[in-house]
Amino acid sequence: MKKLFTLVIFSQLTLSTVTFAQTKVVAHRGAWKNTGAPENSIASLKAAIKMGCDGSEFDVHMSADSVLFINHDAHIQELPIETTSSIILSALKLKNGEAFPTLKEYLKEGTKQKKTRLVLEIKPSAISKERGIALTRKVVDMVNSMKAASRVDYISFDYDICKEITKIAPKATVQYLNGDKTPDELLTDGIHGFDYNLKILDKNPSWIKEAKSKKLITNAWTVNDEKSMDWLLTEGIGLITTNEPELLLMKVHR
Ligand code: MG
Repeated sequence: MKKLFTLVIFSQLTLSTVTFAQTKVVAHRGAWKNTGAPENSIASLKAAIKMGCDGSEFDVHMSADSVLFINHDAHIQELPIETTSSIILSALKLKNGEAFPTLKEYLKEGTKQKKTRLVLEIKPSAISKERGIALTRKVVDMVNSMKAASRVDYISFDYDICKEITKIAPKATVQYLNGDKTPDELLTDGIHGFDYNLKILDKNPSWIKEAKSKKLITNAWTVNDEKSMDWLLTEGIGLITTNEPELLLMKVHR
């Protein structure tokens, strides 16, 4: 009886390992929530790497003089990034004392290792579509010049930015964020997959299996509660983007 019990437990453990180990853990804006590092800081990237995340996400904006900076919002400390010069932006400090990071600094840190992929979100420009495309080209040029191309995955809410990346960086993978394209539409347009809000996948639960069957990347944001994590893990989603990477790493047995 005891042997049978042990066997059952062992096979359940094995099954859950097999089922969930395929799902990759992406720290949303780095690992900040439980580490005390500011979001999108070099410290949050280092923390995500240290805890063994499969990916660490961050957001890129462009200053008035075309320097690329890492921040979630279009403003930092009340300064609009797009219309502020890099000289002023570079003088800013984050809450932990680190300088407001540029993409160059971020890539330099991220490419010191090979385990954690760099999930790079290109933010559209509020000034014009054209500026968003110019920003995209600058980002891809910098990724290439820093020899980081094989370490980076691109994401964006702007479909034209996603399509531009597929043109100028044909070997790169691009995931669309906005949730308004079906897996078939993504496939037709040469986009490699989706990174959709959990609510979108809740409304369209068949999209995960459908996308997987078409070999598209499947990713969800921002998944912070256990119930949603468990559902997505059971669905066999490819990646989960979360503010709680510690919890998700535990669930996928890493
Ligand atoms: Mg983002």
